[in-house]
Amino acid sequence: MKKTTRRMTKQRKKILEVLKATKSHPTADWIYDQVKKEIPNISLGTIYRNLNVLREMGEIIELSYGSSYSRFDANTENHYHFTCLECGLVQDVDFEVDLDMDKKVNMAIEGDVKYHRCEFFGYCKECK
Ligand code: ZN
Ligand code: MN
Repeated sequence: MKKTTRRMTKQRKKILEVLKATKSHPTADWIYDQVKKEIPNISLGTIYRNLNVLREMGEIIELSYGSSYSRFDANTENHYHFTCLECGLVQDVDFEVDLDMDKKVNMAIEGDVKYHRCEFFGYCKECK
């Protein structure tokens, strides 16, 4: 039987490296600009494709915001984000994931929550 696990190609490795080195939750365009410095012949399409593969591999998470561009995060631990409505900054919120919320939802739906996502929106320190 053939292995279906994806290999870590040179391009994929570089993309992951770029993403791990930043806390800015960049867009694919930004990642493209960084990776291009070392792999000049890479295309934006390849970046998108590899970001998808990395997401499927569980190496990164994708933060999607409806109509605007997705942002990517190499921190795959469950954590909260704050997005500035003025400058678009996306930052980590450094407090622990509230597990009591999972319990409340469990009671409400009589089910079993595995995780939840939480996003805050407003104005950052510079913009408020
Ligand atoms: Zn701001
Ligand atoms: Mn994050």
